[in-house]
Amino acid sequence: MTSDLAAFATKNGIKYFMISYTDLFGGQRAKLVPAQAIDDMSRDGAGFAGFATWLDLTAAHPDMMAVPDPASVIQLPWKPEVAWVASNCVMEEKPVGQAPRNVLRKLVDEAAKEGLRVKTGVEPEFFLLTPEGDKIADPYDTAEKPCYDQQAVMRRYDVIAEVCDYMLDLGWEAYQNDHEDATGQFEMNWKYDDVLPTADKHSFFKFMIKSIAEKHGLRATFMPKPFKGLTGSGCHAHISVWDLEGKTNAFADPEKELGLSDRGRNFLGGIMKHAAALAAITNPTVNSYKRINAPRTSSGATWAPNTVTWTGNNRTHMVRVPGPGRFELRLPDGAANPYLMQAVILAAGLDGIRTKADPGPRSDVDMYTQGHTVTNGTKLPLNLLDALRDYDRDETLKSMMGTDFSSAYLKLKLQEWNNFTAHFSRWEHDNTLDI
Ligand code: ADP
Ligand code: MG
Ligand code: MG
Ligand code: MG
Ligand code: MG
Repeated sequence: MTSDLAAFATKNGIKYFMISYTDLFGGQRAKLVPAQAIDDMSRDGAGFAGFATWLDLTAAHPDMMAVPDPASVIQLPWKPEVAWVASNCVMEEKPVGQAPRNVLRKLVDEAAKEGLRVKTGVEPEFFLLTPEGDKIADPYDTAEKPCYDQQAVMRRYDVIAEVCDYMLDLGWEAYQNDHEDATGQFEMNWKYDDVLPTADKHSFFKFMIKSIAEKHGLRATFMPKPFKGLTGSGCHAHISVWDLEGKTNAFADPEKELGLSDRGRNFLGGIMKHAAALAAITNPTVNSYKRINAPRTSSGATWAPNTVTWTGNNRTHMVRVPGPGRFELRLPDGAANPYLMQAVILAAGLDGIRTKADPGPRSDVDMYTQGHTVTNGTKLPLNLLDALRDYDRDETLKSMMGTDFSSAYLKLKLQEWNNFTAHFSRWEHDNTLDI
């Protein structure tokens, strides 16, 4: 029998499939498989040595098979003879518990058991740099408040319009592109979808913008805080929960505060309750903590939270309810793993629904100037170690994300933290030499 992917290849003139999976650190790994070989690979998967990527597997483990999910296939708009396809990691017929796409799929199934279907939109911000990655590519992009800079966005029209055209052709319903709040920083938006397709699109978007930037002699980065003093790159998520048919928004209730239903409020309560632990996933690098908890930037605002608070349409809080039936989590950053970020939102929100968690009263102050007046909000973790310890203490979140995942993630991320602290910095020298 011809597989779906073989039929896709014949119909679209595909020569190679890029069978891709995402490891725990968000790296996308792939094999290029000729279309002639796709039938067998569709069934058995492409073989990988798991140890060679960040999955906490040993060199002695059997082959890990990446089994492509035909529902995710995308013909590369800039290289139409190649098609990218997200895959699910399997070892000896069993799903690899710590593989990010598996973690997310398991939580999607759990939500479905409760009659819920979570839909999210992500807003990945990124910088366009010189190929070495150390300077903003556009030497004229120097304004103090560069957000929405008309002249600067047009100087990058080649990259932005090429990628936006591709998103439109792919049916993603792209609807706006702008220069963001830091010099050299941009954002492109497309329509929300179910969490799994959103995570696949988010992964593909990162791959696409990096590829097109390279084609134009630039380097795109999603690093959370590439430059001291400039606004960092967030990856906000807008969240709503629907019935299984995806027709009725279970978060919308015009009678309730800010148009958020009781279930929406409980889901939000779960996010608030687990926020500190959740940061270990949504803010997964050492550098992430220079974006949250940051001092004022040169534009006047960080646009990133430092406290666990929520509000209405006010961008200075961790959670904003911009309108009825959804809320925005402003915590995640550009380093967040597209699958794990959705998974941890689902895990925290589902726990909130199950335990009828209360998000507490909302605060409507300007957190950048009046934050000290808010007494009911706990501080977000100050560094990666803090966040990992908070995650380790959160037994509910750890078990909802899966014990295989949680132990593998904590182990590898603590190793990363230890590598960081083992690094001797100039700062230490400057501040300790004459002590
Ligand atoms: P902002 O910058 O104001 O936070 P953007 O327009 O950049 O907002 O991004 C909003 C994101 O939220 C988009 O991905 C959009 O599709 C998504 N979104 C809109 N409505 C919903 C909803 N009901 N549920 C989930 N996501 C939504
Ligand atoms: Mg070999
Ligand atoms: Mg936005
Ligand atoms: Mg933005
Ligand atoms: Mg936003």
